[in-house]
Amino acid sequence: MKIAEIFYSLQGEGSLLGVPSVFIRTSGCNLRCRWCDTPYTSWHPEGADMSLDAIVEEACSHGAAYAVVTGGEPMIAPGIIELTQKLRQAGMHITIETAGTVYADVACDLMSISPKLANSTPEGPFRNQHERLRNNPDVLAKLMRQYPYQLKFVVAAPEDLEEIRTYSADKRNIILMPEGTRPEVLQERSQWLAEICKREGYRYSPRLHVDLWGDKRGV
Ligand code: SF4
Repeated sequence: MKIAEIFYSLQGEGSLLGVPSVFIRTSGCNLRCRWCDTPYTSWHPEGADMSLDAIVEEACSHGAAYAVVTGGEPMIAPGIIELTQKLRQAGMHITIETAGTVYADVACDLMSISPKLANSTPEGPFRNQHERLRNNPDVLAKLMRQYPYQLKFVVAAPEDLEEIRTYSADKRNIILMPEGTRPEVLQERSQWLAEICKREGYRYSPRLHVDLWGDKRGV
């Protein structure tokens, strides 16, 4: 499996915010978000091929009880089902971070789905492919039926709320995060997004890893 990085950190987003976790980042994505914060797994995929056993061994070496399988898009990684089964055998709690456009019968304790809104669509040659693939209601519904889930939306402007309201899910499972990788941008957006969450009853999530360490790889 092509792995961009494995590192130990704190979960920076969502309902497990702050939980010490080992991150396994697969390389390769079916989407090309305009603001992708890991372009080394999508626009310019990098990484090394690793066996599943080597991945699990390195993940377990940090002593974490929580594993976050992320990307890229981990659900398209060849061997993803077997990898999650091995992590479960190792006794880890498994979060999968996905855009929710591809289904795989993985072992997973929290399906952390980040549906991509229109604000993610890039200009240029990938525009049509991204627009066609970014929303797959059937896959999304299946993931939400089969697993404990959260829907995390990246919000760039207040107008994004109109699109978010079209997703039918229990509001208690919907989390809004400001878009941005620079602390000053996140700070400005967090102000109006917090007010939106109070008004509409959505949960707010900061991006803890950016607050703590800035826009860096492997944190
Ligand atoms: S789905 Fe994630 S990894 Fe893929 S392009 Fe979008 S932000 Fe980047």
